[in-house]
Amino acid sequence: MFDRGSLHIDTSELRFDGTQMWVEGDYICLYDSKGSIKGLFGTQHDITERKQLIEDLIIAKEQAEQSDKLKSAFLANMSHEIRTPMNGILGFTEFLKEPNLSGEKQQKYINIIQKSGTRMLNIINDIVDISKIEAGLMEVDFKELNIAEPIKYIHTFFKPEFEKKGLQFFVKNNINEKEIIIKTDREKIYAILINLIKNAIKYTNEGMIELSYDNKGDFLEFSVKDTGIGIPKDRQEAIFERFIQADISDKMARQGAGLGLSITKAYVEMLGGKIWVESEDENTIIGKKGGSTFYFTIPCNTGPIIKTNDQKTKFTKTIENKVEKLKILIAEDDEASSL
Ligand code: ADP
Repeated sequence: MFDRGSLHIDTSELRFDGTQMWVEGDYICLYDSKGSIKGLFGTQHDITERKQLIEDLIIAKEQAEQSDKLKSAFLANMSHEIRTPMNGILGFTEFLKEPNLSGEKQQKYINIIQKSGTRMLNIINDIVDISKIEAGLMEVDFKELNIAEPIKYIHTFFKPEFEKKGLQFFVKNNINEKEIIIKTDREKIYAILINLIKNAIKYTNEGMIELSYDNKGDFLEFSVKDTGIGIPKDRQEAIFERFIQADISDKMARQGAGLGLSITKAYVEMLGGKIWVESEDENTIIGKKGGSTFYFTIPCNTGPIIKTNDQKTKFTKTIENKVEKLKILIAEDDEASSL
């Protein structure tokens, strides 16, 4: 601070209007006959803006470092997620070459290869989807959708998985209308529901899963409730974020790239809705039960349009007729895919 009788110091002071300012001062020291400092003489200038800029730069640097750390954790997790099924495929294909392999073992290995392939495809689809979302290339295609369709699909598609885990599955429709048809993006509604139900199954070991929907003003509100392990309060926001949930310190994470909920959130928002979670994490030590309910809303646009069954049948038949008359040409540049 002192340099041969001079002083250079930044101080925080108050302006006349009471606001805070930073000043940089260059002073020479005034001494008495005994050599003690008696006062200072010098110049000051306002460096508030510079100080603010430095503070902003420090924050930006910390954020960049944090984001870099999260991206590295994300890549490490992703690499693990891709490598695991790939090892399954390559390893068990090698086992299949064994000449004296029993039929039973053959089937078992083929099943593992198939499952690993599906897992790999899911990860690749997630990566493609998130990249499209990030690049703003994900399109939304609004068409009429009868809400009963995805609900029925979920019921049929996941039935074997509910049964395998011994979970009960309920659908609760709180709307009185016979049919609810809204204008929305069908693929995205399917993807949102599939993701939430898939997670509910993945994180629930016993009990039930309930899918319900209700009319809330201009919106349809869906919820997927489970009696699973739940999510600690401090992770309930992070699970919707792209990189944060991939943080390897996420002890709750099971198999998965950690992209499902960020894609789901992006889809819900593209359709004009909101998504949130209410959850209690289980604590086996004190015997506390857990469970999560994921909610999301979808605008009804013009409000639910009620149609009669006849109109729906006519619509379905036209599509079926069109499909029958289609000619399909398959072109493939990869030998394995063309077999
Ligand atoms: P992943 O595909 O890895 O499951 P998601 O984005 O779908 O990734 O979920 C992120 C995280 O949110 C999971 O790793 C898990 O910790 C938590 N999670 C999601 N759904 C549930 C649920 N129904 N019950 C408990 N935890 C859940």
